[in-house]
Amino acid sequence: LLVARDLHKSFGTNEVLKGLDLTVHRGEVVVLIGPSGSGKTTVLRSLNGLETPDAGTLAIQGGPAIDFATPPGKSTRFALRDRSAMVFQHHNLFPHFTVLQNVIEGPWRVQRRNKDEAVDSARKLLARVGLAEKEDAYPHELSGGQQQRVGIVRALALRPDLLLFDEPTSALDPELVGEVLLVIKELADEGWTMVVVTHELAFAREAADHVLFLDGGVVVEEGPPEQLFTAPAHERTKRFLARIM
Ligand code: ATP
Repeated sequence: LLVARDLHKSFGTNEVLKGLDLTVHRGEVVVLIGPSGSGKTTVLRSLNGLETPDAGTLAIQGGPAIDFATPPGKSTRFALRDRSAMVFQHHNLFPHFTVLQNVIEGPWRVQRRNKDEAVDSARKLLARVGLAEKEDAYPHELSGGQQQRVGIVRALALRPDLLLFDEPTSALDPELVGEVLLVIKELADEGWTMVVVTHELAFAREAADHVLFLDGGVVVEEGPPEQLFTAPAHERTKRFLARIM
């Protein structure tokens, strides 16, 4: 579904991505792990068009192949943004909109789909994550876990080819982490294609098809979770896992 090659990105003199390669097949769950500052968020934002790499190529099936050597124009960036939907660490819901309004905003106002259809599909998705009763609630009336589940529904409502999760549970109280990971796991089992940045290694082990360990702006090691977690080949991977397991 997606092939990124040799991505480079600097912020001023800070070179955050130093030739990063990433391939995601349709239906696959790819998990990115790595120390703070290793560039995980920057990778997600680059896939979504929120960040523009300085060099490298990116191709998403059915879309234009982008060579960042020539800075992509607005239409290319928008085309990229259309393909994926991102779930952030903080849910970023509109505080003055109800749950339902938050979910239909993208499909109805941005994608210009029919409002009744957007509402209907939003209700189905809310029911899927156990929030059918909450469509008229405002974000501040929900728990952090519920807010994050609405954030996930809002991403699904856009019907993206690719879901991007940026540490979706790291801002939650520990007792709320499980319910959000469960929803993500169910989506994975349903066949959604996703790239997930997380520090939840138990989740990564269970849900991932492929895990990439990033350090210093490159992929140091990658492989199926059982291989990467039980028999890491690289010294840096071993040290990282020893620190956080
Ligand atoms: P964390 O786990 O802490 O979120 P990360 O692996 O996701 O880290 P990034 O968020 O991609 O890492 O950030 C990598 C580096 O890029 C950091 O040093 C960060 O300060 C820097 N950085 C990210 N975005 C910007 C920006 N918009 N402007 C300047 N520097 C940035």
